Amino acid sequence: MRLFDTHAHLDFPQFDGDRSLILSTMREKNVFAINVGVDLQTSAASLKLSQENPHIFPACGIHPHEAKHATPEALAKLVELLKNGAVAVGECGLDFYRNLSPKEAQIAAFRAQLRIAKELDLPVILHERAAWAEFVAILREEGPVRGVVHAFSGDLLRAQEALSLGLFLGIGGPVTYPKNEALREALQRIPLSRILLETDAPYLPPQAFRGQRNDPLKVRWVAEKVAQVKSLSVEEVAEATFVNAQKLFGLGGKG
Ligand SMILES: [Zn+2]
Repeated sequence: MRLFDTHAHLDFPQFDGDRSLILSTMREKNVFAINVGVDLQTSAASLKLSQENPHIFPACGIHPHEAKHATPEALAKLVELLKNGAVAVGECGLDFYRNLSPKEAQIAAFRAQLRIAKELDLPVILHERAAWAEFVAILREEGPVRGVVHAFSGDLLRAQEALSLGLFLGIGGPVTYPKNEALREALQRIPLSRILLETDAPYLPPQAFRGQRNDPLKVRWVAEKVAQVKSLSVEEVAEATFVNAQKLFGLGGKG
């Protein structure tokens, strides 16, 4: 069985003590991952990590929290990084929950990265929190785009909106949380062909690991929950979502 974690941050300092052990265990267990940048520095780190590890693929982008730093110079630098083998632009999007960057800066950085993705013909890895209406409106205006709504935790209505935009839904640890019944109900109706698995490691651990650091090996618990909710085997979910990831990120036979 092979598994694809489409959203991890293995370059983050939370992994400084055991990064190489996690990477080698992932290889042994056939766990692949997209390492996702949140600013220029982590985007460069994603590229480096992928060069050293054949089972890691890089995404480069500026997170909405960092949008206030997305100057024209920074965006030009991002394009240069993306041209060094990135498989996606991201993560990018809107976060009006924490508002660590002003709304206007978030919207401008989001639009700019959607345009960059189109120009470079790359998919996008999207972050959205407490900004759904604006998020969808911008995607409609700037689209069509190929991509994934990372850490999707909405209900069926939102799932259908995202699917109508042609997007994949990134399902992670939150699908295992007791309170997310609406997400599990939506998941029953979302075709497996539009689902990607993810961890968002070091964040959002599955329920069995709440309060601990998450890592890409735990994508297995997400696959098991998706299989349970959709009455499928874990092998079926693992393989279908692996192929979905290969397709979206254009990985061809490299898996
Ligand atoms: Zn993330």
